[in-house]
Amino acid sequence: MVYFDHAATSPISELALEAYVEVSRNHYGNPESTHAYGRDADHYLQKARTGILSLLGLEKTHDLVFTSGATEANNLAIGSVIDLYRKRGHEAICSPYEHPSVLVTLRRKEEEGAIKLLYPRDEKGAISPKDIEPLLSKETLLCVAMGVNNETGALTDVSGIAALLKSYPKCLYLMDFTQGMGKMRLALNEVPLITFSSHKFGGPKGVGGLIYRKNLVLRAVFGGGEQEKGLRPGTVDVASCYASYVALKEKYGRLDENAAKVERIRQYIIEELREESTQIHLNSPLNGSPYILNFSLTKKKAAVVAEALSGEGFYVGTVSACSSKNAKYSYVLKEMGLDLDEAANSLRLSFDSSNALEEAEAFLKAFKRIIKEVKDRG
Ligand code: PMP
Repeated sequence: MVYFDHAATSPISELALEAYVEVSRNHYGNPESTHAYGRDADHYLQKARTGILSLLGLEKTHDLVFTSGATEANNLAIGSVIDLYRKRGHEAICSPYEHPSVLVTLRRKEEEGAIKLLYPRDEKGAISPKDIEPLLSKETLLCVAMGVNNETGALTDVSGIAALLKSYPKCLYLMDFTQGMGKMRLALNEVPLITFSSHKFGGPKGVGGLIYRKNLVLRAVFGGGEQEKGLRPGTVDVASCYASYVALKEKYGRLDENAAKVERIRQYIIEELREESTQIHLNSPLNGSPYILNFSLTKKKAAVVAEALSGEGFYVGTVSACSSKNAKYSYVLKEMGLDLDEAANSLRLSFDSSNALEEAEAFLKAFKRIIKEVKDRG
């Protein structure tokens, strides 16, 4: 079995699983309880929070609210900024390549008349400061641009955008870091709102968070109790939060080594695919995240090829796991200027440091054969 779909989700790491079991079994108190068991659970919760912030170098400047993942965190960030900071302006700038948890939420706010959305245009797969600059005005209250695109691995110049926005202090920058956290080092101090999901870096599913600059006021999506400073009501899953910290720490211990390993795998596949240049069109930028490789099939149906690969134990992504059962084509690839046929027939290989070069060799062997066997889409 070869699993090349880590951008959809990764298995929980052994260390994170052990931490999860240990906290669930022995530190199961409710962190809101005032007795010793509550205090004990709270200790693990705070350790998870400060641990994650410290790994990112944000312990002095930022705070973290745990959520069910990046989807909820993006909703919390967008809802808070638009509902609480609207007096600052009524325009939001958003990269057209964002995850649906950003795009759908912002479009809903636009439909409600709360904001006007502006999309910087380019065909590179990631917006840059120079794409944003002409759209900025005293009306801009929010700018959203993800760190790493989940379909192509295209990288955003996060520091450049943060530097540009310094001249627009009323505008807050939300950076979805879901595909970069635990995979790359970024200077995040100047980014006021950062979101992540733990299952993308070896933590459990159903947990993630919003990291926010300390002076920001936020408002909970749900009504309820005072957990997480009132920002995320509901009993906190301390074991998952703590296991997230353990998983991230493990990744930070080998960040460069891991990146170098997956880059070798990615480069090897790119070179081998060049031989098939009439059959594929590379969608990932060569200088993008080493963890993601996306290409379109010029003649075959991607869903058929993916199914044939799956039948032989090779698991790769088509369109985006969040929507691939319904989506007919990738809006990200369409925005990048691909025609609908190419945008509907892409494959995404996404790696983890647990993958080996031999797996890439086995994959290529199967892929090259299958691509000959499958009939043209006509
Ligand atoms: N943002 C990005 C960039 C993602 O890749 C994902 C997951 N595909 C999400 C947000 C949402 O994460 P979750 O489904 O864990 O909430």
